[in-house]
Amino acid sequence: MFRTIQNKLICTFGNIMTDLIKKPFNVKEIREQFPALRQKIYGKNLVYFDNGATSQKPQIVLDAINLFYSKENANIHRGVHYMSQKATTEYEASRIRIQKYLNAKKSEEIIFTKGATDSINLVASSYGELLQAGDEIIISAMEHHSNIVPWQMLCIRKGLVLRVAPINKKGELLMEEFDQLLSKKTKLVAITHISNTLGTINPVKEIIQKAHAVGAKVLIDGAQSIQHIKVDVRDLDCDFFVFSSHKVFGPTGIGVLYGKEDLLDRMPPYQGGGDMISKVTFERTTYNELPFKFEAGTPHIAGGICLGTAFEFLESLDMVAAEKHERELAKYAEDILDTFEGLHIIGEAKNKTSVVSFTVDGLHPFDLGTLLDKQGIAVRTGHHCTQPLMDFFKIPGTVRASFAFYNTKQEIDLFVEAFEKSLFMLK
Ligand SMILES: *Cc1c(COP(=O)(O)O)cnc(C)c1O
Repeated sequence: MFRTIQNKLICTFGNIMTDLIKKPFNVKEIREQFPALRQKIYGKNLVYFDNGATSQKPQIVLDAINLFYSKENANIHRGVHYMSQKATTEYEASRIRIQKYLNAKKSEEIIFTKGATDSINLVASSYGELLQAGDEIIISAMEHHSNIVPWQMLCIRKGLVLRVAPINKKGELLMEEFDQLLSKKTKLVAITHISNTLGTINPVKEIIQKAHAVGAKVLIDGAQSIQHIKVDVRDLDCDFFVFSSHKVFGPTGIGVLYGKEDLLDRMPPYQGGGDMISKVTFERTTYNELPFKFEAGTPHIAGGICLGTAFEFLESLDMVAAEKHERELAKYAEDILDTFEGLHIIGEAKNKTSVVSFTVDGLHPFDLGTLLDKQGIAVRTGHHCTQPLMDFFKIPGTVRASFAFYNTKQEIDLFVEAFEKSLFMLK
């Protein structure tokens, strides 16, 4: 108990500190904090436009990783010794920082996982146990494979029905069709907040209200949203919210599942092992309380602590200005790309984030991506783990430039220059 109180104090203090030092948005200053951006690739200045796949890490996070393994490495929730206590305190302080950032009611509602994929699998496995044959799950046509396959596996296992809410050619959800799919049989709606391929921002608040009206729970895949827009899980009123640390400027191998406490309490454990138990005998085991019930075994301790550091970094940023900057970048890139003949922007939703996906007639995205890479431009090419979405657009894949707040218009100019050269070479 004392430990928890102590953590709360540390964290509150941390918030006050960062609020005081929140600086006006300045791209140049922000870039200086990301050493990876200062590299040359094939002798060219790196232009990193693959933030949808993973983001680069600020110095403060790199330092925290180094500090942990250099001086603080110890197992948590176990030892009585100084280092173990310190690691435990920091790990739990990070959980509280994330709780505050998401505006979750309690830190027990923040479960550390391996990432968004792991969080979704946890819910599919565990919440899935509460469902019965004939129950229905709704996803959308723009989901990442991570938010399709676990539900398909669950449907096979439990005899459930998977329904897919369709989209239009702009990449927007068809809300009337979604309404039609909702019924008393719907037990879960699992939908992406922002599409990783199209950039579409879905009207999740409306979706959550509608789903709740028929008694369904809602899982929001926030893998592409939390790094771009402010997320408030209590305002959204979602039942689950998942994301990955590595896309939000933190380390790989760690992520978060937020779940409402009463729901998590009703759900059976996901994996068995150390830490998730209260008492074990060969006859019977009783489980630990939240959040530990869902955290079997030694977790990614450094990852958990340093994800907290990534949020400390985000707290120091003017996120509203950062988002405005990102949207300006996307608009700037789209306006230039639009002037190329035979180029098609895939994903033209009215409400979208800083993702620009496109195809060029007669060219395979992979060839374009390879030539861009040779000029120091990192973009993603292919299906972006959304094969059914590619089938809908009848394309093999796209070239995707996805921007973070540390990108600049000058980088887009370099990208366009390299793109023109590549076109010339390929045609
Ligand atoms: C990246 C991503 C995932 C999966 O995240 P992992 O970090 O690979 O677990 C799920 N959904 C969306 C929308 C994503 O962009």
